[in-house]
Amino acid sequence: MEEELKGLTKPPAGNSLHLKLLRALIVRGTTTLRPTITKKGIRYYKAERRVKNIPPKEIPKLLERLSREGKIKAELFDRVIACSECGCPKVTPKFACPKCGSEAIETIELYEHITCGYMDSKEAFLTTGTLTCPKCGTELSEDDPKFNMIGTCYQCNDCGNRFEKPETVFICQNCKKKLTFSNAKYLKIYSYTIPEQTVREFGKEIPILEFIQEKLNKKGFVIHCDGEVEGISGLMHPFSIVARKDDFLVVVDVVSSATKDEMLAIIGKRADVPADKFIVISVANGPTKILRRIKGIDFFNGSDVTKFKKRFKKYFQQHF
Ligand SMILES: [Zn+2]
Ligand SMILES: [Zn+2]
Ligand SMILES: [Zn+2]
Repeated sequence: MEEELKGLTKPPAGNSLHLKLLRALIVRGTTTLRPTITKKGIRYYKAERRVKNIPPKEIPKLLERLSREGKIKAELFDRVIACSECGCPKVTPKFACPKCGSEAIETIELYEHITCGYMDSKEAFLTTGTLTCPKCGTELSEDDPKFNMIGTCYQCNDCGNRFEKPETVFICQNCKKKLTFSNAKYLKIYSYTIPEQTVREFGKEIPILEFIQEKLNKKGFVIHCDGEVEGISGLMHPFSIVARKDDFLVVVDVVSSATKDEMLAIIGKRADVPADKFIVISVANGPTKILRRIKGIDFFNGSDVTKFKKRFKKYFQQHF
């Protein structure tokens, strides 16, 4: 398990990667994860350090899945505008001309010659070199009561358009794509905590799986944690441990919640997977009796780890 966690073996199959992450977090005592918003995406650095062989960009998806499955708790951390093209959650807001889309806009002060009603920027009144109304030609002075600043507006340097409200656009800091309200993504990002109950459940599972691996290792099995096996149907089935020695195949699965779905999944896997030993350990509180009655399943209760180890040792000596 230690080796597996340090990433010395190849990445496990995708189907149960989320459980691998969860176990690694629990083993290292990490129960809270906060996101960091970077140009390259939402990162959970603490989680990345715990599982070196899972690509960082996969981690948010795995955490989402764990949260959907009720194994960890998500809490809204923030909302971010993200790029629709590359997913980057860092964008720079910019003002743009509503007519031509140019970002080369600036605020200008508008003046009015009240006598004739002409309105323009100050520069327009200064084109002759002295302050003069471009419409009626009257010479003006700064303190002329008929010459007034009436407000400010935006002016586009590219198309000359003047407007009160600029459009807001967002420039992706990663791929530089220009985004608007209609094509930017507005995402929720989450922090996560691993609840006590999950720590307890997996806290049992981890030493159990380590124990089994150790036994199989000593017998010369090649082990994949969170591996997959192809069934007779062609479907791929995930297991906590997949171990092979020549043609002999051992699969190990852990029942953690004892829901009907979980049990049916195991029964289905048993029917489809041609394993020589199909070991199931329950660390769940719920009833798992039905699994004991399925032919071809070597069932163990794992609620007491010490007792489990004793029983498994005996079983292993007899069958391996
Ligand atoms: Zn413009
Ligand atoms: Zn005038
Ligand atoms: Zn982008």
